[in-house]
Amino acid sequence: MMVGFGKYELPPLPYSYNALEPYIIEEIMRLHHTKHHNSYVMGANTALEKLEKHLRGEAQVDVRAVLRDFSFNYGGHIMHSIFWPNMAPPGKGGGKPGGRLEDFINKNFGSFDNFKNLFSQAAKTVEGVGWAVLAYDPITGDLKLLQVEKHNLLMTAGMVPLLVIDVWEHAYYLQYKNDRASYVDNWWNVVNWSDVEARLEKALNLAKPLIFPLAP
Ligand code: MN
Repeated sequence: MMVGFGKYELPPLPYSYNALEPYIIEEIMRLHHTKHHNSYVMGANTALEKLEKHLRGEAQVDVRAVLRDFSFNYGGHIMHSIFWPNMAPPGKGGGKPGGRLEDFINKNFGSFDNFKNLFSQAAKTVEGVGWAVLAYDPITGDLKLLQVEKHNLLMTAGMVPLLVIDVWEHAYYLQYKNDRASYVDNWWNVVNWSDVEARLEKALNLAKPLIFPLAP
């Protein structure tokens, strides 16, 4: 019986390891990408290999435990794969969004500054480790702000992440120590709005509102 899920691979960074300095130093970027992100790629692949063996009758696995591992590691792989291109070197990154993204942000949050403040608050107050996420919601056809713990907990069904910030300590501790707030404030200087805008356009092309569009 042919069964299988394929393999995930660590995507290369779209810039050099020192490209985000002075806001995120090279040492953080190198470790974060080659060690942390890579461990999630390997963890997701290991979970899938266990499921494949289970399907082929070669091994009995604890399906509950394996799926829990998969959710965490694949969640980590997805989030980091969006986080890297969500950033760009200072000068190219930073500033404000345009296009339909700007319209959506204004409609849902009132203004860019309102959005930025709320997103920053979400990032600064994640309990333990996790992410703040701006997502497109194809169920209702609008934007949602999410606060995700670990890589996967509190993630709401169906969300398409557009902009994510990693607030695990490994994302900032070597440079900012325990001052997560300064890391979050500085991070806005390297946000790659053209990438975020492109993700929204792709999400809009993918899906008309699926279940219950909100009234205007
Ligand atoms: Mn990370």
